[in-house]
Amino acid sequence: MDFNDTPEEAQFRAEVRAWLDANATKKDPKARSGDMLGERVTDDGLAASKAWQKKKADAGWACLRWPVEYGGRGATPIQQVIWNQEESKYQTPPNIFSIGLGMCGPTILTHGTDAQKKQWIPDMITGQQVWCQLFSEPSAGSDLAGLRTSAVRDGDDWVVNGQKIWTTGAQFSDWGILVTRHDPTASKHAGLTYFVVDMHSPGIEVRPITQINGGRGFNEVFFTDVRIPDANRLGEVGDGWRVAITTLMNERASIGGGGGTGIIGDLFGLARTTEVNGRPAIEDSAVRQRLADFYVRGRGLQNTSNRTLSALSQGKTPGPEASLGKLVGGWLTQEMAAYGMELAGMSGSLMEDDLAPANHVFPDAYLGIPGLRIAGGTDEVLRNIISERVLGLPPEVRMDKGVAFKDVPTGPPSK
Ligand SMILES: Cc1cc2nc3c(=O)[nH]c(=O)nc-3n(C[C@H](O)[C@H](O)[C@H](O)COP(=O)(O)OP(=O)(O)OC[C@H]3O[C@@H](n4cnc5c(N)ncnc54)[C@H](O)[C@@H]3O)c2cc1C
Repeated sequence: MDFNDTPEEAQFRAEVRAWLDANATKKDPKARSGDMLGERVTDDGLAASKAWQKKKADAGWACLRWPVEYGGRGATPIQQVIWNQEESKYQTPPNIFSIGLGMCGPTILTHGTDAQKKQWIPDMITGQQVWCQLFSEPSAGSDLAGLRTSAVRDGDDWVVNGQKIWTTGAQFSDWGILVTRHDPTASKHAGLTYFVVDMHSPGIEVRPITQINGGRGFNEVFFTDVRIPDANRLGEVGDGWRVAITTLMNERASIGGGGGTGIIGDLFGLARTTEVNGRPAIEDSAVRQRLADFYVRGRGLQNTSNRTLSALSQGKTPGPEASLGKLVGGWLTQEMAAYGMELAGMSGSLMEDDLAPANHVFPDAYLGIPGLRIAGGTDEVLRNIISERVLGLPPEVRMDKGVAFKDVPTGPPSK
């Protein structure tokens, strides 16, 4: 396994750096940690994000892996990774396109007709439109195929009624990807159909949800007799689950890739500037032991992530590393955040810009990470995946297999 750039990769990285140096500013190490969930996006932030995306698209640096014929660059997966690594070192506006570019675009490119690709992909690349993912419902999250939002065919349209929840960015989205139940008499997975919906359609109501950290990143979305043209259907009628799987695979890869060790540098910084028993905390043996433990686990994660990159660089398909990275990285970051708050003492939980130590990175992470440990597959669901697909353990028992969805029991057993 060779973690270094090949000569071609090194040349590509240099090209990327040159463009970024000329068009963006290097990140201030003290800058507030990223707003990953679009929680505090203002109108100015929205405009700045769109302008940055357009600038990248005009120079050929947006959606590197997407086909040239729809406005991408036709680059390799490793080139996309190199771009992401380098871009993350620069100050850029909040990324409001992660759902559109990370999940919706790849799904349309895989399952859409040529007309659908031409309709939606170019505007996605240039950042003219923002997208959201309308999958989860109040009683369908991990068990997504249990969703109940209905779609009934009416002439050239479908009429949609129901409720979605936890829809990130719905409040500023122009389009959404939507999974519905068109046939409650079919079994759970077979009765689903997938659409692209115009978020400005009459009958759609978006209600923001306030989160634990005060942000308002996700929403409830209500559908009342919303009409969607059949031309917006992605895949065949009844093919919704297969199309949704494409979205979910892309979602997990995009959330899992980070490794989640970003705040370890902040933790070392805090240990150098905070005192324990009258001496810098970093000189205290108990503190050093905790820091060493975090560091070793962080390196383990980094090397797991490097294995993914090495596989991509050699043209191979990465294995289960993304699930492992998401599972272990989320937990590790939360532990480090808790320790940072503890080490900072009484001020550790402050979130005021001018008072909080380390620019409130620790309480931010402590309150934000639980959401990331749920989105895109909870810890328990990831453990199930690892146990079944990596360790080869027997699958979970399924009581609803082959049963018509309308007959799947939903309440307490009748007496
Ligand atoms: C920050 C954030 C952003 C999100 N953004 C979006 C979005 O944009 N669009 C969207 O559609 N959804 C979004 N979601 C929703 C997300 O996909 C769901 O929250 C997730 O799938 C879990 O579903 P649930 O919340 O219904 O929990 P449930 O599925 O009800 O799970 C509850 C608990 O039961 C456990 N559990 C469930 N099934 C099993 C099992 N088989 N074995 C063991 N344990 C199990 C879970 O691990 C969890 O602890 C977002 C969520 C978060 C937190």
